[in-house]
Amino acid sequence: MSRQYYIAGNWKMHKTRAEAAELAKTLVSQLKDGKHKYLVAPSFTSLETVAAIVKGSNILLGAQNVAAEEQGAHTGEVSVLQLKDLGVQVVILGHSERRHTYKEDDALINKKVKLALKHGFDVILCIGETLEEREAGQAEVVCESQTLWGLSSVSATDLAKVTIAYEPVWAIGTGKTASPEDAEAIHAYIRKVIARLYGEDAAQKLVIQYGGSVKPDNAAQLMDKENIDGALVGGAALKPDTFVPIAKFA
Ligand code: PEP
Repeated sequence: MSRQYYIAGNWKMHKTRAEAAELAKTLVSQLKDGKHKYLVAPSFTSLETVAAIVKGSNILLGAQNVAAEEQGAHTGEVSVLQLKDLGVQVVILGHSERRHTYKEDDALINKKVKLALKHGFDVILCIGETLEEREAGQAEVVCESQTLWGLSSVSATDLAKVTIAYEPVWAIGTGKTASPEDAEAIHAYIRKVIARLYGEDAAQKLVIQYGGSVKPDNAAQLMDKENIDGALVGGAALKPDTFVPIAKFA
């Protein structure tokens, strides 16, 4: 079964509106003939600006997080309703920085996943083990558990709106990339977990991105692997010079 490659850029807490606009305009122009599926996820403050630029292009608009509640007294949070109002189509959830720096646990992430799906968003659910867990031989167990928790009570119909991003924590922003073989092993394992839960057909359709120091010079080798269907890119997504070659990898 052929899955479409999906390349996403997570801009994290970078860029003013003017800087975000400049990057978005360049990407719209340079990726217009790109063959894969694309997404950019700017900071909340730049979503409206970037929405106007990517509208009608082949680049989807993503948010980097969302609140677990629909609305109400939640100082500092941003709701699904507000994101929908801005034209956001995809929400990234469970990013390792949310899990580890901001202590989001699996139950909270699952609540966010279900709320985002209920409101019609696509979701990129991030999973991944720490270095300590990998060295203890726990990588598969951790990734399986985060997948099971993240997708708890998610229907087969809604699974079609979910992408999983395998992002080993030790490879994010560190310059260390998982070898294509190590990444492929976890991707294949996750696909088996999905097959057990939702059946083989759903598992074959699921797009699983790799994230963790993806660069122009390692993108093609990673995505050459059977179960690696795209990339979630952090640092290299901040400049067209590095993101465009990843997005147009051959
Ligand atoms: C990320 O933030 O999801 C990520 C993979 O970052 P980087 O590409 O910088 O490692």
